[in-house]
Amino acid sequence: MKDKIYRLSPYFIKVILLNIIAFFNYRKRNTSGYSMYLKKYLDSWQLNFEEINQIQNEELKSLLKEVYTHSPYYNKIFKTKNITTGDIENNPRNVLNKLPLLSKADRRTFSKEILNNNPKRKLVEIGYTSGTSGTPTENYLDQESIDRSFALWSRFHETIGIKKSSKSVRFSGRLIVKPNQKNKPFWVYNYLEKQLLMSTYHLTDEYMKHYIDKLNQFKPDYLDGYPSAFYIIATYANKNNLKINFKPIAITTTAETLYDYQREIIEKVFNCHVYNQYASSEGSPVITECKCGNLHVNIDSGIFEFLNNKNENAQPGEIARMVVTSFRNLKTPLIRYDILDTVLVADNQICNCGCNMPIVEKIVGREDDLLWTNEKGYVGRMDTAYKGLKGILQSQIIQLNHQDFIINNIIDENYTKEIEEKFIKNLKDRLGESVNLKFEYVDVIPLGKNGKFEAVKRKFKLE
Ligand SMILES: [Zn+2]
Repeated sequence: MKDKIYRLSPYFIKVILLNIIAFFNYRKRNTSGYSMYLKKYLDSWQLNFEEINQIQNEELKSLLKEVYTHSPYYNKIFKTKNITTGDIENNPRNVLNKLPLLSKADRRTFSKEILNNNPKRKLVEIGYTSGTSGTPTENYLDQESIDRSFALWSRFHETIGIKKSSKSVRFSGRLIVKPNQKNKPFWVYNYLEKQLLMSTYHLTDEYMKHYIDKLNQFKPDYLDGYPSAFYIIATYANKNNLKINFKPIAITTTAETLYDYQREIIEKVFNCHVYNQYASSEGSPVITECKCGNLHVNIDSGIFEFLNNKNENAQPGEIARMVVTSFRNLKTPLIRYDILDTVLVADNQICNCGCNMPIVEKIVGREDDLLWTNEKGYVGRMDTAYKGLKGILQSQIIQLNHQDFIINNIIDENYTKEIEEKFIKNLKDRLGESVNLKFEYVDVIPLGKNGKFEAVKRKFKLE
């Protein structure tokens, strides 16, 4: 409803509405719990390895004890395996190792049973995500989970020199202005947080000069958002010899895989370091890049297990699948969750930034590719097209050429004609009106290379 009113409003009403929404979001995020966790996380950033491990152990203990009592799904598993609260108290890590992996399918099928029904965890918000597997799921959040998530995000920023009062630009998958809008502004300003939200759906050659002019006039302290958006702008600026006349503290990327070829040109054009991070919207623990350019596994946000293709602990130099246990998603617990994202395991574990948390070499996963259409140019992450659509169990977008797409879907009885229409509209908002979409309803969508689900697949090479 909120989204619909926003979409249909003229620009000046959009500015007012967005600022009202931002005000309420700000209030929801800036709680005393948030401040408490931010302090705690900042304190633990430079602890020694034993101290930080101790914190991780305590967090795991409290998570396992809570789900033992309040999650019917886990209670049943604990009982079947004869695990007692005493076992959790004595050796939580050992208990964790006895628990089965939680697959994406299980998380969806048993979502109600998995839920933590501790009365102190009141439902505050439901997040929707397709994750990176193209499978839409709901994520139930309580206030503590929201507080912890934003505190971790703020710690990431503080450790790379971004202040809370910093002025920023954000590129996200949200429809900030009408997708078919032909004239600037393609952005809306959030006064409270000094944040300029820019549309990622108008990044075509035709409008690019407006974006660069606006960035040069606004001069943000930092920029945040999809790497594909920064890559498109940087490539254009570089080719047309347009200069970025300010020097940001940082660019932080989110939601998509950051590729080396993207980083290279973005850093050159914006004259600042690009900081990568991993934090799935499904509530995974987080990995963040530090001032020295290393990716630290934030082990006070959860436990990462890195498994190779034989399901053994991966060795340095190997690509590993991440299995995650999260301390920041407490209403919808994630315990040994097989999140289907991958990393390259690092050789070097020593960093001079002062943080002693482990390092991974590279975030490999999230191989959502870029798409390309004549009307929209590059199109980044497509998962926002699934927001709120019921009845789609799994979905894959295959682009055959500039015009033609096949959408493979596995659906259930909740899927209706109406949902299909909404889905088509969502896709055309992002890919352009002139594309041909062929919907296929299938029983199975085969996995791609390395057994990875490919939510988006482009069958031709981009120049
Ligand atoms: Zn470091």
